[in-house]
This record gives sequence, C-alpha cells and structure tokens, in this order.
Amino acid sequence: MIIPIRCFSCGKVIADLYEQYVELISTPQNAAGEPMSDGQAMDTLGLNRYCCRRMVLTHVDLIEKLLRYNPAERDIIKLNNQR
Ligand SMILES: [Zn+2]
Repeated sequence: MIIPIRCFSCGKVIADLYEQYVELISTPQNAAGEPMSDGQAMDTLGLNRYCCRRMVLTHVDLIEKLLRYNPAERDIIKLNNQR
C-alpha cells in the first residue's frame, strides 16, 4: 500500500528512501543506459541491514490502484436500485 515510515524490525526511517530507490532502479544510471540493480541501489541509499532491505525490496505500491475506487459509488448504486 504505502511504504511504512520505519523498518518494522530495527526502526530505521526508510519511507524517504523509497522514491529515490524507485528512481535508481527505473532510470538509466550508467553509460550503457541501464538502470542500477536492486542491490546496488540499496547500497547507494545506505540500506545495509537485511531487515531494511526487505522493507524496500518487497514493497508493492498499491495506493494508486486503490484510489481509483470510490466507496461512495456503492451507496449511489444502492439508492438507484431502491427507486
Ligand atoms: Zn531495519
């Protein structure tokens, strides 16, 4: 959903690093035009402990998908069916 602010295990603040991480692994970083590997990107950002690395590596950003659904829409449909 949304990246947790802190690592669940050690408490290091990781939320501010997620955006930089995504940019490092998705935009060209070297002369060959290849993006950085996941491990290199995490090393660059100072994510050294494996507990913090798993937080960033395994995160799935679903908030944009969830924002497409409008919970009030269900109520509108229900009201229209009652009429
Ligand atoms: Zn950690």
